[in-house]
Amino acid sequence: MNAPRLLALPALLLPLLAAAQMPPDAAPDAALQACLSALQPAARAAGVAPETWRQHTAGLTALPEVLDKLDQQPEFRTPIWDYLAALVDDERVAQGLAMLAQHRPVLDEVAQRHGVDAATVVAVWGVESNFGQTFGTYPLVQSLATLSCQGRRQSFFRGELFAALRILQAGHVAPERLRGSWAGAFGHTQFMPTTYERLAVDFDGDGRRDLIDSVPDALASTANFLARAGWKDGLPWGFEVRLPAGFSAEGQGRKLRQPMARWRDLGLRRADGAPLPELDAPAGLMTPAGPQGPAFLVTKNFDAIYSYNAAESYGLAIAHLADRLRGAGPFVTPWPTDDAGLSRAERRELQQLLAARGHDIGAIDGLLGERSRAAIRAERGRLFGERAPDGRAGQKLLRTLRAEALLAAPDSPPAEAPISR
Ligand code: CA
Repeated sequence: MNAPRLLALPALLLPLLAAAQMPPDAAPDAALQACLSALQPAARAAGVAPETWRQHTAGLTALPEVLDKLDQQPEFRTPIWDYLAALVDDERVAQGLAMLAQHRPVLDEVAQRHGVDAATVVAVWGVESNFGQTFGTYPLVQSLATLSCQGRRQSFFRGELFAALRILQAGHVAPERLRGSWAGAFGHTQFMPTTYERLAVDFDGDGRRDLIDSVPDALASTANFLARAGWKDGLPWGFEVRLPAGFSAEGQGRKLRQPMARWRDLGLRRADGAPLPELDAPAGLMTPAGPQGPAFLVTKNFDAIYSYNAAESYGLAIAHLADRLRGAGPFVTPWPTDDAGLSRAERRELQQLLAARGHDIGAIDGLLGERSRAAIRAERGRLFGERAPDGRAGQKLLRTLRAEALLAAPDSPPAEAPISR
């Protein structure tokens, strides 16, 4: 969160590239060491003791792949329906419900203390780190030191490096556990180090604010973040709406809030046709996929979620997942596409089909990394005759490959066939 994620993609959708370690006998990167020496007085002035600095930066080598991440250009703009299909799929809803049940006492206490409901907190957790399963594997100090000395935005990353070292210095997190995204977000909540310093909470009372090994600390820290971002307890984030015929949403946006009565006068209804609720809070109109897709009225609570990672698609994923955890269904209005996105289960199935066709795509993990994308491009070229296929995979490609695989194995019974004795 708050990291310069150039795509609106959280770490868990990116392939988990294990940080390539330099061999232990490699000479320290001289340029990095020279840069770090020059930074040491500033670190000291920022509260990093010389001993801490020495302990964590001596012999440190650069991690070139984080610079690649910093400069990576998206191969294509991820459509919002792809983004949501993978972030809010049946698996994540089921797992979120299990987490709600498992951590109910803590979540109730968090809601009482910070004024943010359990479903919202668990939804952030699910999107940020897949409920603690995807923290990122980059050693934070090494990544941040590299980004502090090379590439764009060095001064931003220096602030994060110093904060990471202050966190270690205070003993909140064990150094070997401090790993995260390439840009420095870490733990269950994927806080950047400076965000950690401002907002992390010691909820379990052991004296440490630990977002890596304490679920209660992480859940409370997420709630604290949202509360400090303006979350109003009991206010819905918003809801899907139906626009009256001929209504133009042009020029509208989540920031242009108007009273609910005004929207009612303009003819907006809830997506199921019901009248807009009596809500004493202004709301803005958001149409993230343009005039043909779903439309939403969003309150200031949507903005609180938005501030976690400034992207509307991201905010909508969390808001929608929270609604699903409360028992709501999918959006009523379909996304404006004839090739809908894939859930993670469907991504894994696609990877299996690609592997069966002989593509070397690595692990079947539902993460469409570079090798999966290359295979997708090849198959799109072969099946659809596209001259310059991009690496996007949707339902069309999955259906086509599935049908082809079935034809290639005519003797195998359909999955639903009853087993005769
Ligand atoms: Ca703690």
